[in-house]
Formats: sequence, C-alpha cells, structure tokens
Amino acid sequence: MKMIYACDNCHFLFSRARQPEQCPDCGKYAVREATEAERQEYEERLKEPREI
Ligand SMILES: [Zn+2]
Repeated sequence: MKMIYACDNCHFLFSRARQPEQCPDCGKYAVREATEAERQEYEERLKEPREI
C-alpha cells in the first residue's frame, strides 16, 4: 500500500511506497507524511479531469 507524502516547502502531494528524503518537485529535504486533510485533497485531485 502506497503512502501519501507532502512537501513542507512547496506543498507538493505525491504517493510513494517509501518516504523519500527529497521532494520530487522542488528537491528540498522537507518531505513528511501527509495529514488526513492532505490525503483527501490528493484523492480528490486524482478524480478531477486533467486540464489541458
Ligand atoms: Zn517540494
């Protein structure tokens, strides 16, 4: 089961099997586990159709 992580620097939300040290978006060492609210935000974002 994949976990959801958040970056404290740029607020990027992403899922990984393991917690990475660096944010895949901005590269800062500010990754932490996402809160319940952030997990829901991430799930909602996945349902939305992508904007072109
Ligand atoms: Zn970041």
